[in-house]
Amino acid sequence: MTALLDDTCTLLGELIGFPTISSDSNLEMIAHLAGRLEHAGARVDIHHDKTGKKANLFATIGPEDVDGGIVLSGHTDVVPVSEQVWASDPFEMVQRDERLYGRGTCDMKGFIAAAVTMAPMLAKRVGARPLHFAFTYDEETGCFGAQALVQTLKAQGLRPGVAIIGEPTDMRIIEGHKGCYEYSTHFSGLAGHGSDPDRGVNAVEYAARYVMRLLELKDQLRTRAPKDSRFKPPWTTISTGAMNGGVAHNVIASAARVDWDMRPVQASDARFAKDDLRDYCQNTLLPMMRAVHPGADITTEVLAEVEGLEPADENEAREIMMELTGHNETDLVAFGTEAGIFTELGMSAVVCAPGSIEQAHKADEYVSLAQMQQCLDMLGRLGDKLGA
Ligand SMILES: [Zn+2]
Repeated sequence: MTALLDDTCTLLGELIGFPTISSDSNLEMIAHLAGRLEHAGARVDIHHDKTGKKANLFATIGPEDVDGGIVLSGHTDVVPVSEQVWASDPFEMVQRDERLYGRGTCDMKGFIAAAVTMAPMLAKRVGARPLHFAFTYDEETGCFGAQALVQTLKAQGLRPGVAIIGEPTDMRIIEGHKGCYEYSTHFSGLAGHGSDPDRGVNAVEYAARYVMRLLELKDQLRTRAPKDSRFKPPWTTISTGAMNGGVAHNVIASAARVDWDMRPVQASDARFAKDDLRDYCQNTLLPMMRAVHPGADITTEVLAEVEGLEPADENEAREIMMELTGHNETDLVAFGTEAGIFTELGMSAVVCAPGSIEQAHKADEYVSLAQMQQCLDMLGRLGDKLGA
């Protein structure tokens, strides 16, 4: 094992020891990373969330307040281990058969450990183009940390140029994924006796009309698939996951709820669908409901709106990562990441990091030493590039 790999494994072990499940605080881990980065000569900013229990870290090596830098990004939170049977303590990293086991080893503390271990070397090489480290909270619950971080950067007027997102891809370069939008739409009507349906507002029946509209949209979205779309399936999808409402067969339902999701291949599809649904509720459903009961309502609760990463003809992040990894092809994936949020700031982004999504979120999550070494090699070449 090289000394660098050895150091990276030690740091990864320390990071696994912080049980940063999304619902819990990540502050100790952020403080640990901040200490390491400051020691490497980075300027570190920590931005807390509203609760004060969680924070984003944004650090810079190289020139200050300069746009166009390269961001190495990772989320600090991990998914829970409850109801999973592990061969060993998930928050105590162990090595077996050239693999490192523990919650977060591949998703995605492995990448963070590699990036921070390389920070002193990168700090020595950095030239005119700054290098940033962005470590966020609450990715697994809806990318809230990354959304807050992008707002912080906007407020500061800082616009880095390239983002490398360290979600596990077996070190393959991923240049696209769909968005993930999740909603609960609530219908509130007016209860009454089932024998006289016109005197009530049946929330379940309006929810059913809404689901019919979702099905129509689902068909329309197929026809809007971008030409040469590499996504599977190639178009934006809508799926109704759950429908609840009502109390008994002879009572007019006063409340109902539809849980649904949309996976846009392009942001314009999401706008199209949302506009259509808003118009349908405003101009069709609500007037019918309110003609009987003025207090009737339809509200849509946004559980997550994680932007997709749209493959682009021009993508500097892709070009850089092809050079650093030696790979000459790229891929798309089905899972969502923070990448699309960074592109909103005008940055180009790709996803590339050690470990496989196959092991993410599962019992006995691991990352192989070989993958960690590949990541260190890639970061070493990034140092050469920054110094060139
Ligand atoms: Zn992840």
